[in-house]
Amino acid sequence: MAEAAAQARTGPGAVAWEAVIGIEVHAQLRTASKMFCPCPADLRDAGPNSHTCPVCLGMPGTLPVINRRAVELVLATGLAIEAEMAAVTRWDRKNYFYPDLPKGYQISQYDLPLAVRGRLTFDTNDGPFTVRIRRAHLEEDTARLQHTTDEVGRRISLVDFNRSGLPLMEIVTEPDIRTAEQARRYAEELRLLLRTIGASDAEMENGQMRVEANVSIRPAGSDGFGVRTEVKNMNSFRAVERAIGHEIERQAAVLDAGGTLVQETRGWDDARNETYVMRSKEDSEDYRYFPEPDLPPLRTDPAWLEAIRSGLPELPSARRARYVAALGLTSYDAGVIVAEPAAGALFEDALSAAAALLAERRPAPKALANWVTGEYLRIAKQRGDGVHASGGELVRLVSMVGEGRLSGTNAKEVFARHVETGQQVEGIVSGMGLTQISDTASLTAAIDEVIAGNPAAVADYRAGKEQAIRFLVGQVMKATRGQANAAVAQRLVRERLEEGA
Ligand code: ADP
Ligand code: MG
Ligand code: ZN
Repeated sequence: MAEAAAQARTGPGAVAWEAVIGIEVHAQLRTASKMFCPCPADLRDAGPNSHTCPVCLGMPGTLPVINRRAVELVLATGLAIEAEMAAVTRWDRKNYFYPDLPKGYQISQYDLPLAVRGRLTFDTNDGPFTVRIRRAHLEEDTARLQHTTDEVGRRISLVDFNRSGLPLMEIVTEPDIRTAEQARRYAEELRLLLRTIGASDAEMENGQMRVEANVSIRPAGSDGFGVRTEVKNMNSFRAVERAIGHEIERQAAVLDAGGTLVQETRGWDDARNETYVMRSKEDSEDYRYFPEPDLPPLRTDPAWLEAIRSGLPELPSARRARYVAALGLTSYDAGVIVAEPAAGALFEDALSAAAALLAERRPAPKALANWVTGEYLRIAKQRGDGVHASGGELVRLVSMVGEGRLSGTNAKEVFARHVETGQQVEGIVSGMGLTQISDTASLTAAIDEVIAGNPAAVADYRAGKEQAIRFLVGQVMKATRGQANAAVAQRLVRERLEEGA
């Protein structure tokens, strides 16, 4: 910090700043019950304080019981980020007073987290980037405070204990991140990973995944650390990128003006596009951590870890690598397909349907990928969630286009209808009368009619106006209600014009 401030005094704008960013994520684990009691963890449609019991209300004399599934989900995450897994782990009490914490402490993990020293690699605009992950540990969530006014207008705070005791995983990175874009990509990749392995639904909008960013700046090229601020209240990936970007600019402006920064917690105000002070943060809050006396240390024996490891699905990074190396997709397309689980499922479904065909009739993976990244995702984005298409039908559609039985434009319409109704492609094509006409005999009559009916265009063509042919082919397409194979029609029109010349 001293270093950064000293540099800044050399004059406004004299220093090129580099940002240093570390991310802390809290993710609600996907379990049936809470962390230390049998209360249901699914809080959808739950009235306030309906999912509570003496344990999560913090009553004296109650005892916690560890949720095995929650531990397994953190272990699965640790394995997925290639972390070192604790052979023995332990629970600690983090002590502080707040109305959302009835026991006066939170059961967490302090110096023996379940997983340490992992990493996550993802794509950025400047190529692949790896962030080291310091630790992943398990803890319980607090209750939720709701600040409001009562019937006579007094400001009051209500407490809802439904969230009290939900299992939370905290994942902390090393301060490896340098740009707001990298921070957003990290958060997106982590969410994808957590969803892929079933550890969390990780919806940022409803608090299942909370992202906090520690941000500092230093003169580019130096390796000390500046004073950091912690930015909270970012409710979307877009907010993560914008909040960090603004915080970097704010810090640079303070130092450029010869000011000093203070370590504090700042909130992100999305509407006003700025961070604001929430509270100043003394160097390290003293939580008086000590081992939880009501829970024994927990052993993670190798067989248990191995069972969890072998139960992991193919991870996003491995899947992208496979699409590029084995299927020849671009890394961009692979990224787009893997990032969207429904798109990934459709692509896999189409690949296995294609695998059942003879090699010479099998559509190329690239062609299937184009439909998934193009039409499928376009429709899915337009409609929101829950858009289904069948991989087998997609393969049939792509084959029909390849065999010249369906035009590209009509194929899009057929696909849209398939997505909308679930109807099979063959049925839609014959029902709409879209089967493409490629055979000469069927097209000849239409072409003769068009040539007879458009003498001006015919004269233009013969006078050397090449573009007149496009008009004539357009008329043939119209006469056949789009069913003519445009390439065949063009060849036939040209032949007919040449022979009559
Ligand atoms: P706390 O106990 O306040 O959460 P930690 O030391 O555990 O603090 O660090 C929290 C996060 O802040 C980590 O992701 C870490 O990488 C990051 N961090 C630490 N120092 C800095 C810094 N000077 N600038 C930016 N990030 C930092
Ligand atoms: Mg912190
Ligand atoms: Zn409970």
